[in-house]
Amino acid sequence: MIKLKPSVDKLNAYFVNDIPYRVKLDANEASNYLLKGGFKIENFQPNIYPDSDSKLLREKMSIYYGCNAENILVGNGSSELINMVINAYCEKGDKVISFIPSFSMYQTYCDLCGAQYVGVISENDFKQNIDKLIEKSQQISPKIVILCNPNNPTGYVTSKEDIIKLLENVNDSLIVIDEAYVDFCENSVVSLINKYENLIIMRTLSKAFGLAGLRVGSMIANEELIKYVWKVKVPYNINILSQYAAEKALENIDLVNSYTKEVGILRKELKNNLENLNFIVYDSGSNFIFMKSPVDNLYEKLMACEVLIRKFDFSGDIYYRITVGTKEENEILLDEIKKLIEESKYEAKHSK
Ligand code: PMP
Repeated sequence: MIKLKPSVDKLNAYFVNDIPYRVKLDANEASNYLLKGGFKIENFQPNIYPDSDSKLLREKMSIYYGCNAENILVGNGSSELINMVINAYCEKGDKVISFIPSFSMYQTYCDLCGAQYVGVISENDFKQNIDKLIEKSQQISPKIVILCNPNNPTGYVTSKEDIIKLLENVNDSLIVIDEAYVDFCENSVVSLINKYENLIIMRTLSKAFGLAGLRVGSMIANEELIKYVWKVKVPYNINILSQYAAEKALENIDLVNSYTKEVGILRKELKNNLENLNFIVYDSGSNFIFMKSPVDNLYEKLMACEVLIRKFDFSGDIYYRITVGTKEENEILLDEIKKLIEESKYEAKHSK
């Protein structure tokens, strides 16, 4: 068999767990609230290629994001665009820097093109010290600095002031701000794209819009930068159905705003409830919370009752990330956790 190139051969393929569930709180998806009534497709022509430039979709997005359509490139999820930017700019050996922990796919996309991923470790409480990121960037001159804001998996929100400090102090690298979850905390820096020529912002409809299945994301930057990256875009990358459905969804921004507010309230409630059960819960500006659990093997135990969450193992220290579900889903989660706490108390008493 002909071998893959060595940098790719060493990678593990990305497979998603196919576990049966009652409640799915493992992938930061949202409710299907925008298109729940379905939609009627007018003039649907599957025999004709879709609009390769997603013109109408970009126009609708530009109203929501507060920029011009020329500042937007649409991708098959922001995943496609993050990969595209890393691959378009990095030659083998070029450096990409980010905080650790952050979104794990940055490292994978670097591996695909042989770029070197450098991590700046977050503080003990997962706060991200921007001065450390600036200092390391000035030391190693990376091609790209990626800042996930709010950060996945910790939920940490970097302030606008810190991002401006980064932009003012690192001029020779691309600064990619991954705002996949920013709709939940209104902390976007889209307004800065024409002030800083090296600024790229990644957005997605997978989270706050509840449209992960459509695979629609966008890259926002000054017009010149968008033109550069367009060179590596695959033609017709957004299929006809996704373009249409995303356009319809973007006509209901009021619903998005009330949904993100509601998630904020549910997140606060979930955090309080878990803290009352002795969980250590970190502050989050997103639609998930990150925590340490007093119950051992929480991930496995919840999976056994068909409640899915995410587990992170940082050199033996176990943390969990839970998507904020609906009121009902959060209640099921808390009920199952309470049962597990009772069981472990019972076991502790009877093993004495
Ligand atoms: N960035 C971050 C931080 C994410 O968590 C995700 C999805 N988990 C993505 C980007 C990619 O999202 P999508 O491809 O669905 O737009």
